[in-house]
Amino acid sequence: MDKINEQNAFPKSIPKAEMYKPFQSLDITGIALESTNIGIWIIDITTRVFLPSPCAKELFGCATDKEMSFDGAMHQIPERYRPEVIATIENAFTKRKSFSIVFPIADGDTKQRWLSILGGCNNTEDDNCYFSGVVMDITEQKHNDLRKSKFIGMVSHELKTPLTVLKAYIQMLNTWAKKQKDHFTIGALSKAGRQVKRMLNMINGLLNLSGAEAGKIHLNKQDFLINDLINEVIEETQFITASDNTVLVPCETIQVHADQDKIEQVLINLLSNAAKYSSKDSLIEISCHKVDDKVQISIKDLGMGISPENIEKLFDPNYRVESKETEKISGFGIGLYLCSEIIKRHQGKIWVESELGKGSIFFFTLPLN
Ligand code: ADP
Repeated sequence: MDKINEQNAFPKSIPKAEMYKPFQSLDITGIALESTNIGIWIIDITTRVFLPSPCAKELFGCATDKEMSFDGAMHQIPERYRPEVIATIENAFTKRKSFSIVFPIADGDTKQRWLSILGGCNNTEDDNCYFSGVVMDITEQKHNDLRKSKFIGMVSHELKTPLTVLKAYIQMLNTWAKKQKDHFTIGALSKAGRQVKRMLNMINGLLNLSGAEAGKIHLNKQDFLINDLINEVIEETQFITASDNTVLVPCETIQVHADQDKIEQVLINLLSNAAKYSSKDSLIEISCHKVDDKVQISIKDLGMGISPENIEKLFDPNYRVESKETEKISGFGIGLYLCSEIIKRHQGKIWVESELGKGSIFFFTLPLN
């Protein structure tokens, strides 16, 4: 163990023990990576022996001549991000799956830096497993992303104001046309209203996206009845999609304390997806009920379904399933990412059960207190 942790032991003196055999070629790769400021690391998940390269130590804010344990590395992550990073990595260790995660590093008195860690499992002959991977400084890229998000946020906000005014005028004209019994105008205004609603939903999505990317989804919590909100959203999405195939399984009156606009956005996204990825007019069923101290909402469709390998990545930003069926359906792959960020901010959970060709059920929970 001491030998393993020797100063600058990596990559030249990787132990020749069985578990490191596949890494004997890492000397050259390691040197190449180190010269481009990419750190490398190995961890035996059973013994927790952790081998960070000098560059990996530096990136974690640790002197290269000091030892850095796995727990020590995790401690450098600000408390707000630490539990999620540890949970992701531990989950990958347990399932022996690859992972990728981005987080900031508290670097003493200097500015916050952002790191990206990628890792994957290597099985040894005796069925042990060790993980290896790289760690990179992505501060500049993160700052560019934040600038981009800020710009999207500003533009979306500016676009929203005139659209909201337009929506109000359409509603006024609609009332007037109804009094005049002018059916042509009523029909035309209904179509115009539908498009304005669609645009407002997209803009709200972009606003939430810029907030999520900046790590700032502000919640404006209030008490409201979730069953009433579901009914409103069903009406609204049926209006936008011009169909009436959605049913709410009778749902008791349940009061929640949450951000109503954001939960509405989640419901709109999930319902629109259920309609988008199903054949027109096939049934969509929403149900809501209390489970312990939570309310659980589910949206079930009989559409194209999702394969297990795609389910895992579904809530990642910009992820879209690539298949013959989905290539003609438009989208940016941000809807589910936003839903998951909003639900996580509420301390809830979101997940999906699906069978390819048969349909999907999206679930989410919100704490009741
Ligand atoms: P978008 O629909 O804009 O592509 P989302 O983030 O809402 O983005 O969804 C990500 C991907 O998940 C979609 O591209 C689609 O392939 C898949 N998906 C989402 N909802 C469903 C559903 N109800 N049925 C089948 N596939 C779905």
